[in-house]
Amino acid sequence: VASVGFYGVRGSCPCSDSAVRKYGGSTASVAIEPGGDAAPVLLDLGTGCRPLGEDILGRYFPCQPLAAGAEPHAEPLDEIPPHPHLDQPALELSAFVTHLHFDHVQGLPFFGPGLRPDVRLTIHGPMQEGGLAAAFCRFVQPPYFPVGVEELPAEIRFRELEDGEAVDLGGVTITGREIPHIGRTLGYRVQVGASAVAYLGDHQAPHADGKVLSTVAASVLDLAGGAEVLIHDAQYTDEEFAVKAHWGHSTIAYAVEVARQAGVKRLVLFHHDPTHDDDWLDRLGDAAAHLAGAGPLEVIMASEGLKLELSADPARERRLATSGSRLTT
Ligand SMILES: [Zn+2]
Ligand SMILES: [Zn+2]
Repeated sequence: VASVGFYGVRGSCPCSDSAVRKYGGSTASVAIEPGGDAAPVLLDLGTGCRPLGEDILGRYFPCQPLAAGAEPHAEPLDEIPPHPHLDQPALELSAFVTHLHFDHVQGLPFFGPGLRPDVRLTIHGPMQEGGLAAAFCRFVQPPYFPVGVEELPAEIRFRELEDGEAVDLGGVTITGREIPHIGRTLGYRVQVGASAVAYLGDHQAPHADGKVLSTVAASVLDLAGGAEVLIHDAQYTDEEFAVKAHWGHSTIAYAVEVARQAGVKRLVLFHHDPTHDDDWLDRLGDAAAHLAGAGPLEVIMASEGLKLELSADPARERRLATSGSRLTT
């Protein structure tokens, strides 16, 4: 059965404290599991993709230590050797980043499968000045990190997506749309069989005089319309938003409004503020459930380790069971 796994649900900055243990402190990382033996589709590469990488290694390479020589070099190389392009990688992974703020990309150098020479990882993301690859290479290099992206043993490729572009991964289709935030930012709709998951990790709510308006951008409704699951920025309370209205985020009330207008079934409140401890998030969850009322909308607080099963599509399950093929781009 297809599912959505949450590995990092925090926004802005990772946090670690006994008071945030219930919801977790790693930043944005979500995995869509298409089911069967298909590889997960990664949404964002925040610090949560480190434990996700451990899971993937355990699943696809049990009891296999890293190949010798996969240890990163302590010193930067004078010349970067070209990566031998893999005809047939042992595992092919696809990641979709919404934008390049630290909390969405910082986990990449610590993503275990990136240290295996038999893995290919394609990172999709919004167009950047100078290119998406160059934007990643600027922060994964000395002096910020011991080695550059090109020196990571896996074959890592980058692909910029235009507004509205769809990527078909054989049974899973991911569509990116530009959404309001700070800098060019994509939201994604992941179609898995009959189920759609919309992912809007960071979303600037429209506002006037420090108050959130109830209008919803057309691109947002495109992504979320009729989705089974909407994962949405819910960083602030109304009071916090009043003083941080331009910081690129939404309130829990606005997330509920988007879910209602888009007609989604389950709303997952995501991108928790690092200053919100477990008790606070419990209260926000109660407040959001109250806002959603007794209608058909279910509100869920994102937490590390949360796994949501998507409603089964019998025809698709049969196809997956008989195809036995791994996901390829
Ligand atoms: Zn963020
Ligand atoms: Zn951001």
